[in-house]
Amino acid sequence: MQSLESTPVTDLPGVGPAIAVKLAGLGIETVLDLLFHLPLRYEDRTRVHAIGELNAGDTALTCGRIESAGVRYGRRRSLVVAIGDGTGTMAMRLFHFNENQRRQLRPGRRIVCFGEMHAGSGGIETAHPDYRLLDDDAEIPTTDRLTPVYAAASGVGQALLRRLTGAALDRLERGPGIADPLAELSSEALPEALPEVLPEKLPEARPEGLSGETARHEFTGLADALRAIHRPPAGIRIDAALDPGHPARRRLAFEELLAHHLALRMVRRRLDHRRAAALDRGDALVRRFTGSLPFALTAAQRRVATEVRADLARTRPMHRLVQGDVGAGKTVVAAIAAVTAVASARQVALMAPTELLAEQHFANFRGWFDPLGIEVVWLSGRLGGRERGRGLARIAGGEAAVAVGTHALFQAEVAFASLGLVIVDEQHRFGVEQRLALRGKGERGGRQPHQLVMTATPIPRTLAMTAYADLDTSVIDALPPGRTPVDTAVAPSGRRPEVVARIHRACGRGDQAYWVCTAIEESDASACRAAEETARELAETLPALRIGLVHGRMPAAEKDAAMAAFKEARTDVLVATTVIEVGVDIPNASLMVIENAERLGLAQLHQLRGRIGRGARRSACVLMYDGPLTEAARARLEVLRATTDGFRIAERDLEIRGPGDLLGTRQTGLTRLRIADLARDLPLLPDVERAASELLARHESCIAPLVRRWIGAGADYGQV
Ligand code: ADP
Ligand code: MG
Repeated sequence: MQSLESTPVTDLPGVGPAIAVKLAGLGIETVLDLLFHLPLRYEDRTRVHAIGELNAGDTALTCGRIESAGVRYGRRRSLVVAIGDGTGTMAMRLFHFNENQRRQLRPGRRIVCFGEMHAGSGGIETAHPDYRLLDDDAEIPTTDRLTPVYAAASGVGQALLRRLTGAALDRLERGPGIADPLAELSSEALPEALPEVLPEKLPEARPEGLSGETARHEFTGLADALRAIHRPPAGIRIDAALDPGHPARRRLAFEELLAHHLALRMVRRRLDHRRAAALDRGDALVRRFTGSLPFALTAAQRRVATEVRADLARTRPMHRLVQGDVGAGKTVVAAIAAVTAVASARQVALMAPTELLAEQHFANFRGWFDPLGIEVVWLSGRLGGRERGRGLARIAGGEAAVAVGTHALFQAEVAFASLGLVIVDEQHRFGVEQRLALRGKGERGGRQPHQLVMTATPIPRTLAMTAYADLDTSVIDALPPGRTPVDTAVAPSGRRPEVVARIHRACGRGDQAYWVCTAIEESDASACRAAEETARELAETLPALRIGLVHGRMPAAEKDAAMAAFKEARTDVLVATTVIEVGVDIPNASLMVIENAERLGLAQLHQLRGRIGRGARRSACVLMYDGPLTEAARARLEVLRATTDGFRIAERDLEIRGPGDLLGTRQTGLTRLRIADLARDLPLLPDVERAASELLARHESCIAPLVRRWIGAGADYGQV
């Protein structure tokens, strides 16, 4: 018998080419795809509700007799039918009706209807329910399963989808079955996390045929899980059927996460077959470089630098993510990698997400590398044609060993003589797709550049394993010594005068301060206006202080001048928008005020606050807000006040916001999960990884079908 994977939907009765096209629009091409088209929610038509017990908001099946029917002429003409069942009366209202309906819906007829109840003028009311007239002796048409509601499309409505998924379930029952990758796993690799939610704790959630005994050590088989999800048996409440702890849901969530994780591991496997130049020189030059620094590397920096250099020395391309909290000192590690590449006669591209950060890296690298005789160029959208042309020529000719810039570095006209290493800073700003796209760049003669990506968004380890399964990761898990944690206070905007006075005092002592203005919504124009306004105000109230201003809409030269002035302590206060969020490193600044902090996310606030507390002196951050705060905003500010630990903050962020924002992958795979939820299902991930390793090692043939049924053929992780 043909497998469900290879049975086209047109094999099912009543599916012709026209419907097949519409189904394809929903991603459904095979009978198997139908099985993985999971219900969004359910309706309960398994029992009849007494009208007298209905409440507004209920969606319910009711049955009674028509007591009266008539057309009302209110704001809109409607047909109102009163239905009674001995326990009470409700109204069914139709705004659209025809003569036929009007004739049929007459007093005395028996009627069954299913719909959502509202509070109407004269009691409970439902508009345009599903209804049917019944003969007096007919049985009330209840179902023995919850009714699934699917993502539908025009021409493929619920009725059709229910019929087709029903037919697919029948085939599953009778047919060749379905490959169940989890059934292949040995007992050591069997997920432990699944039986943790014991079915006996959720008696109603127990799928049929699952005995308490076996459920503890095995988990629901795939076919059982699919049946339980598509057609939950009568007696289970809707909320229990939707409960993420339902064994069938957990089982499928596990499988979905496994599919995504495997997809990335397969990407990685393909990458490992590529070749790269071994960058294995530079021990002496690296020593010279680190010796020239005004500080000693931390143990964490040394360890990570060693891991990176070991990767670079191999003939397959490195794909390594370096995580490290704000201020952990990632840049120096990147520089060590760059020195290694240059000593091995290859070029380096360093990409930053903003012009401001690219420029700062350029200044740093030039300061470090000039004395070593390594030429660094800066490629910026801001450069004039002539300068840019010169930079491009130096890169193409190979004289420039290091090129620093934004993503403009990867435009077609940038040609490297021998690119050996690509470094991407603050990679969470780019997202998975850009990260994967980047890998195609710089390929020469079958050799690919090594890739080092750095992020200050600390991703909880378990999440990183799934989201970055195609990367090796290193963590710089300690800050350089001598940092004092930032004191953070939360204050309503009414206390602004006190905050201004505090700035006055601090700057009087020779400290410097940032004042950050935020945008209402996305438009940064409003933030720029706010920053200009604030700079003017502060200049008036604090005439003794020198106030600088930087925001995204200023001409580039002015921006540079403002940053330089602040860096050289020629200004005391820098009023800024969130353009200073990433990377900016000015150790003398020890005070930061963030206005309307409630508008920003946790990660962003943490990044911003990371701009201070870089020197030895005690630093403080004031988060100002305009009340009243939403629950989520209050929670965010409280987290910031309570801790400066980036990992703790990221974990809370995950709970408050979910992983999409954290990973910067809004558009990509992991945030379009069908049944799993990364934030909620985080505890499953270690088991996902273990199961994946075993499938990769011993049951590779399971993988492609698994990935296909959850993610689709080419889909999100690309043909990398
Ligand atoms: P991030 O990890 O946020 O990119 P940076 O690389 O910008 O951090 O480093 C933050 C600051 O710490 C810089 O001023 C840098 O010179 C300094 N720094 C880096 N490593 C050390 C160290 N081992 N000891 C002292 N200061 C260091
Ligand atoms: Mg940095």
